[in-house]
Amino acid sequence: MPREEFTEEVIILKIGQLREIDCWVRFLTPSRGILTAFAFGGYRSKRRFPGCLDILNQVLFKVVSNPTGKYLYLQEGTLLQRFPGITRSLNRLGMAVNCLKFIEAAHLGEDDSRAAFYLILKALQILDSDVFVPAAFPLLFRTRITVEYGYYPDILNCSLCGKKVKADSGSNFIFILREGRICCGDCFPAASSTGIRLGASSLLGLESIISGLPGSWVDESVYKKLDKKTMQVMDRFVQYHLGLVWEAGHFRQV
Ligand SMILES: [Zn+2]
Repeated sequence: MPREEFTEEVIILKIGQLREIDCWVRFLTPSRGILTAFAFGGYRSKRRFPGCLDILNQVLFKVVSNPTGKYLYLQEGTLLQRFPGITRSLNRLGMAVNCLKFIEAAHLGEDDSRAAFYLILKALQILDSDVFVPAAFPLLFRTRITVEYGYYPDILNCSLCGKKVKADSGSNFIFILREGRICCGDCFPAASSTGIRLGASSLLGLESIISGLPGSWVDESVYKKLDKKTMQVMDRFVQYHLGLVWEAGHFRQV
């Protein structure tokens, strides 16, 4: 790889100390995926990195590589946005870190990073604000990212007979995780064990989550439709398609 130089807005995912004043920074970019770069003197230089080097910060970084293109270095940074409302609350910070860790574990490469970048940015803005945020917010985020990565399920019509899911349709639908579709109870083969039965109201709530931005998840009328079983479906949906489970503070590939 030849030497390169670029400027890009990023969200900082992780920072690690190298020596007393040096550090490395891992960040998500909209067009280059997740990168790691060294910031020599980063902990001392208030002129080159004023207020920049903290996780969650949205920063404009000027990045250069070494002559062979193998390593990246941060030349300077401009703070674009920080999220004090998140860092003030342990609960919100836990949710934000969970979302960041998921992005890091699930990230599928450069092509997908623009959508992931703007979703995490929207999620951080919501967590930073004063609005009510459901405890399941990180799960909703994981589900939405899975959908963004190409696994949009068709959950508004029976995939075999076309029967529409309506608010008064009751609980006679089965979500088939593997295929990302639903069947009505009449069409679903009784022998199959890969389906999970869900009510119409849950399916409509789930559709609002996967078709909307994080800002719509704090609407209680949407959130109330998601019962415990719907949460389990979301968890299994993410696990099935991206192969990730949350374990001891990290996402593990299964
Ligand atoms: Zn049907």
